[in-house]
Amino acid sequence: MLSDTPSGLLFVVSAPSAAGKTTVVEQLVQVLPGLRMSRSYTSRAARPGEEHGVDYNFIGRDEFEAMIARDAFLEWADVFGHYYGTGRDETWARLTAGEDLVLVIDVQGARQVRERLPQTVAIFMLPPSFEVLEQRLRKRSKDPEAAMVRRLETARREVDAVEAYDYVVVNDLLERCVGELAGIVVAERARLVRRRAAIQPIIETFRKPAGRTE
Ligand code: 5GP
Repeated sequence: MLSDTPSGLLFVVSAPSAAGKTTVVEQLVQVLPGLRMSRSYTSRAARPGEEHGVDYNFIGRDEFEAMIARDAFLEWADVFGHYYGTGRDETWARLTAGEDLVLVIDVQGARQVRERLPQTVAIFMLPPSFEVLEQRLRKRSKDPEAAMVRRLETARREVDAVEAYDYVVVNDLLERCVGELAGIVVAERARLVRRRAAIQPIIETFRKPAGRTE
């Protein structure tokens, strides 16, 4: 476990592939000031339209393995044959600087983050049904059939992990889902333990000034 409690909140969002999590979280960070999305490292090749340093930090497998060896990741996982990971130091630096961060990571990575930082708020996003997920995946993916079947089988297993999450949202309508996620973030920010320092000056105004007796 990493020591100390940083002032920023850490959220993880997991969902089966094609559940729409990236689109939803991209909109979430647009509507909520002070919330940023983390940029992961991956050993997979960039897809058309993806940019190094924007969508991911695209690095080679060797470089990724060297980073694993020097414990440079808060979490990492092998997802569909490629490495994915969240940089440890940059995440920690942003959290200790007071930024609220959201990681969009798979269920293996989410488990590791919760172990290292138990105060993490874990959110699982479900598509409306397995059939809808399959339709979305087939529409969006140019993967061969075998890869598609593998993703769908993984999705069947991944939903079992929902029990370990704090919140669950269903991605039926984009706007509604973004609104629900925003509600979770706002509620977490308002917890007494996180508001203590901010409310102290307000509480002080309720205290009787020294010397006044009535
Ligand atoms: P894609 O290749 O479609 O961008 O992502 C594939 C899967 O990897 C998704 O489930 C995504 O959430 C997951 N993923 C992306 N970044 C990370 C990361 O940093 N760590 C982990 N554990 N999973 C990640």
